[in-house]
Amino acid sequence: MTPRLFCTIIRGVNTATFVFFRNLNDLLGPARRGQSISLRFADHQTVKHLVESLGIPHVEVGVLLANGRTIGWEYRPRDGDRIEVWPASDCPPQVRFVLDNHLGRLAVYLRMLGFDTLYKNDYSDEQIAALLAEDERILLSRDRRLLMRKVVRYGYCLRSLEPKAQLYEVVRRFDLLSRAQPFHRCLRCNALLEPVEKAAILERLEPKTKLYFDEFALCRACDRVYWKGSHWERMQSLIASLRDEPQP
Ligand SMILES: [Zn+2]
Repeated sequence: MTPRLFCTIIRGVNTATFVFFRNLNDLLGPARRGQSISLRFADHQTVKHLVESLGIPHVEVGVLLANGRTIGWEYRPRDGDRIEVWPASDCPPQVRFVLDNHLGRLAVYLRMLGFDTLYKNDYSDEQIAALLAEDERILLSRDRRLLMRKVVRYGYCLRSLEPKAQLYEVVRRFDLLSRAQPFHRCLRCNALLEPVEKAAILERLEPKTKLYFDEFALCRACDRVYWKGSHWERMQSLIASLRDEPQP
């Protein structure tokens, strides 16, 4: 995530001023955060080229303005333009995720909250692209090059390396708390859970579980049994901590 990766050398006769708002500044190099950025460019370059050359994937952007007027990604800036770049706040109608490699802990957290979350620790970029093309999923990644691919319509670049902090970011960005359905999805395989009678799984339970719990759910895909024990309590405290998280 070093900013120099994105500073493709742009040589041209024109100069435009770029202003990035709110959390888009997280993705800029420290010296550029909160500053107006003066960028030289050639006639053929689109605003998408220029914004992404500064390290901001298109999926992070909601609104683009040139001199106060809304523009699209194919807009070719003109000399002297002031380009405002505002963060995305939209979301697909169904909130479903694909997670990039090394985000296994975040995948478990999102499944705890009941969200359909596809994750393997060895997806190739092509497999991720195919999953995104198949249905409108949100890509969560720290790989900005991946997020800049055209196939990615909805996505978010995780700022933190720490899974719980990543969860807070995603909950805020996609307003997940109001849609959460805890105890709804298998943490291991992502399938939906079904309520199951205690009698049907009795012989599989440890003595204390048998004694203290009466409500159970089963994952028919991987045959894992869930009950509202310590796992449920951890989930409840996670949700409580998300509710208490101060808004930026
Ligand atoms: Zn399962």
